[in-house]
Amino acid sequence: MFDYAGFFADRIDGLRTTGQYRTFVQIERLAGSFPRALHHRPDGPREVTVWCSNDHLGMGQHPAVLAAMRAVLDASGAAAGGSRNISGTTPHHVALEREMADLHGKESALVFITGYAANDAALYVLGRTLPDCAFFSDRLNHASMIMAMRASGAERHVFAHNDPADLNRKLCAVRPGRPKVVAFESVYSMDGDMAPMAELCAVAQRHGALVYVDEAHTVGMYGPEGAGLAARLGVADEVTVLMGTFAKGYGTAGGYLAGPGPVVDAVRSLAPAFIFTLSMPPALAAGALASVRHLRASGTEREQLHERAALLKSLLRQAGIPLVSEESHIVPVLVGDAHQCRRLAHVLLERHGLYAQPINHPSVARGTERLRINPSPVHRPADVHHFADVLDREWRALGLPRTKAAVRVA
Ligand code: PMP
Repeated sequence: MFDYAGFFADRIDGLRTTGQYRTFVQIERLAGSFPRALHHRPDGPREVTVWCSNDHLGMGQHPAVLAAMRAVLDASGAAAGGSRNISGTTPHHVALEREMADLHGKESALVFITGYAANDAALYVLGRTLPDCAFFSDRLNHASMIMAMRASGAERHVFAHNDPADLNRKLCAVRPGRPKVVAFESVYSMDGDMAPMAELCAVAQRHGALVYVDEAHTVGMYGPEGAGLAARLGVADEVTVLMGTFAKGYGTAGGYLAGPGPVVDAVRSLAPAFIFTLSMPPALAAGALASVRHLRASGTEREQLHERAALLKSLLRQAGIPLVSEESHIVPVLVGDAHQCRRLAHVLLERHGLYAQPINHPSVARGTERLRINPSPVHRPADVHHFADVLDREWRALGLPRTKAAVRVA
């Protein structure tokens, strides 16, 4: 008989040896005091400062968001009680979809329980439904995009990261009349670098391709009213379908698509990841809507986000601590070794109460292990200085290499 448990125990041992075994830190954020949180340990909770949250604007504790969620929770209960098709469509879902379509200047929008599901649903339906579809996918696209393109069974061409010339070459090799989908992200979650969106869109357009952009790391945080990087660069109309999440800039949870009515409608009617799962809880839809509306009206959080990120990057640059890129609000500190990365994260947390989760393979390539630091408006400038000082000291203690300038590893 096959020893299933023994087989997986060996696999897990292998992951421990390579430093890839995942352990979770128990963190309880303290609403009203972000970025402070309780780190739950065997000997009891201890207050720490979180440096790796995707709640980039601190909206997860915003009074307007919490009030909207509480009101709907009290009025409608914990969950919608079904899928969108079967009793799970509330006025909160409909209002949120209208808002997202309006924010992005698209005909239609569709809300999902996660951003992962939004990518999964959309790319699966495009690949499965368009006749003889060919995908053109950036090499560093998120796992949710890759898995959906693969599952659709459509042909997939991977172009070099952020490389419009390579995209052009790959598109040239495919018959002109064939349906094509060019899929990329606007800001890359692990490297923090930005896509040359105007150039990629222009190449795609020349070849008559549908442009699909994952703006998970930009909505709420970039562009007029937080409409994202395409909006900031003035190429929103060049993007056919935009994907976003409420789990990062908007500080809540859920994902969405915005695009032409018939395309969004096809996803609504055909995507297993939309049809066969629960509807977003209505209180969450109301919280996400409050967050989106707030960030359309207020630019303060966006300004502070970029100020804090600029401050941290300049302090780390002066200290010669290598960064994977310096282009966005994501500050990826390149450690380059899984064990050292874990050690560094461990001393930051245990000695200094600074929580930054190590990012290892398979999230990033081996040899590019890193701490991805996410400064935000809820980190005061004094917090940023303190973090940079401590990182500098512990970097030295671990004998990690310094650099004169930021290095690119992607
Ligand atoms: N796309 C990208 C680029 C992401 O980084 C993530 C989250 N890590 C997702 C999609 C999935 O979003 P969500 O967390 O809402 O499922």
